[in-house]
Amino acid sequence: MYTTIPKHFPNAILMSEFQDRIIADFKNMNIDPNDTVWATSICSDELNNLLQGLNSVFAGPGPFRLGGISGLPFVGITGFNAFLSHAPAHGCAMIIYGPHIGVSGNGILGEVNRQNQFGLTTCCGSLVGALNSIKADQILPFDNPLDYQQARVIKHLDQYRNEILEDEFPLKKATDFAYIDIHIKLNRIIDALKPTLNDIKLYMIGGIVINTDWDKEDWFEVRDSELITF
Ligand SMILES: [Zn+2]
Repeated sequence: MYTTIPKHFPNAILMSEFQDRIIADFKNMNIDPNDTVWATSICSDELNNLLQGLNSVFAGPGPFRLGGISGLPFVGITGFNAFLSHAPAHGCAMIIYGPHIGVSGNGILGEVNRQNQFGLTTCCGSLVGALNSIKADQILPFDNPLDYQQARVIKHLDQYRNEILEDEFPLKKATDFAYIDIHIKLNRIIDALKPTLNDIKLYMIGGIVINTDWDKEDWFEVRDSELITF
């Protein structure tokens, strides 16, 4: 784990350091966190109930969850608009976004040991499942209301199938592409909402969540951060 994380995520910082960085960013931007609501677009996996310390810093109770499995913002324009409408008057909204990937204690990418389990389980299970579907050429139908999120995840990754499957570390590559797609999708939603927004600031900070075994602190590698004013 301690060699795998820096090898694949050279800019990763501990989750507690990431939390401190966010608070420092608000100080540098001269925005009061008390006037800010926060959201995540991160996979539904309970391992990602991170950064709960931010609830005592930002306007609560947070976070609004924009993400479904994989971290794609499945709440769409409607959910995003609802979140922004919860921001304090003349205030700010913040979104932490990105996919996640496990790194087990013995350095296996895509797996972690969860509390009171004896073995390892996949992490992110959605991305691992999508990768397996692409390998097997099994694209799920979109009209199944019982599994439509995973059908979308597979469709997203399938755009990059050759680059993913030819990579030495396909799951890492799939995670990188998932990040790009989450980033693009959030920005497309912002573009769609732009004409209706005014008097609000939006701070976006995205990257890769790196989960470790249950008794170890998780990590975050920041890829983008931006303050948008409407
Ligand atoms: Zn996941």
